[in-house]
Amino acid sequence: MKKKVLITRKLLRSNEDRANELWDAKLNLNDEVYSQQKLIELSQGCDGILSSLTEKIDEKVIKSLPSTIKVISNFAVGFGNIDIEAAKKKNIVVTNTPDVLTDATAEIAMLLILGACRRAAEGISYVKKENWKWSADFLIGKQLNGSRLGILGMGRIGQALAKLAKVFGMEIHYRNRSKLSKEKEMGAKYHENLQSLFSVSDVLAICCPATNETKNIINKETLEYFPTGAIITNVARGDMIDDDALVQALVNRKIYAIGLDVYKGEPKIHNGYLNQPNAFILPHLGSATKKTRTDMADLAINNLNEVLNTGKCTNRVN
Ligand code: NAP
Repeated sequence: MKKKVLITRKLLRSNEDRANELWDAKLNLNDEVYSQQKLIELSQGCDGILSSLTEKIDEKVIKSLPSTIKVISNFAVGFGNIDIEAAKKKNIVVTNTPDVLTDATAEIAMLLILGACRRAAEGISYVKKENWKWSADFLIGKQLNGSRLGILGMGRIGQALAKLAKVFGMEIHYRNRSKLSKEKEMGAKYHENLQSLFSVSDVLAICCPATNETKNIINKETLEYFPTGAIITNVARGDMIDDDALVQALVNRKIYAIGLDVYKGEPKIHNGYLNQPNAFILPHLGSATKKTRTDMADLAINNLNEVLNTGKCTNRVN
């Protein structure tokens, strides 16, 4: 008999066809964002869940899942939406989709840097109103070539971004908890602490995971470490930013511009960002290419299948 799997969000057609071949798949044809209660109800009788970052699968949800659930395969590389320790206690394997989304996300990280530095949001708005006039000082932005890029979290996406940014002539600095090998550093300078990294960051790119340690890592105090007129971009997760503090720093001009793809409590976003002309903001587009989304779903399906068939998985995160 086929295994029963709950797929919480709509996938691309080819991925759903494959899921249907493999399992008795409960698809979400209307692509509704399930409440925690609905997720628990729909998971009854299932062997596994293929989840997305839009579901908060916290300790309370994990405890209420039926004992038949053996695996939660997250359709994302980040897994801050799942309480992986609570899952482990219940013998539920949690998996993610690393590598396949690295390049697409690094491209968006680069776009955030370009958009924020070169005032793209303001430019688009002028063009749409047809009320602009070229002049020597019109919409002057910051040049990437020769600027220092601080990468907070030089993992897969951070390293892919470093390669792109080097082509633009940026000097790369980074902070991880552990220093990388010379080969992986690719000439980037390691910083022992946040203050040291932020103080040399003309532009910051946040590429680290959302954890207890990184929550609100951009806050009133750490914003003071930056050179005046720095640019902050975030392609990772909204949890890393204290939004009130960042909006205030934009208003004060301590921070020149921001580029964001992710937000705390998205799709809602802090009102302060909406009124700032120097905010270049995107709706969580990191992995949004057809190739990447197809590869991610394929990998999430493989991960789930591997756990159901063998109890193991290379992409296990707990
Ligand atoms: P990764 O390869 O695991 O890299 C994460 C990096 O962050 C590692 O180098 C890690 O190094 C560093 N790090 C972890 N905790 C840190 C801390 N407290 N301080 C400083 N550095 C820290 O992950 P990835 O594949 O690059 O993905 C990174 C994140 O991007 C994901 O967690 C996800 O949230 C986000 N993401 C967003 C999108 C999007 O659509 N916008 C798409 C994909 C991924 P150490 O362990 O040495 O500290």
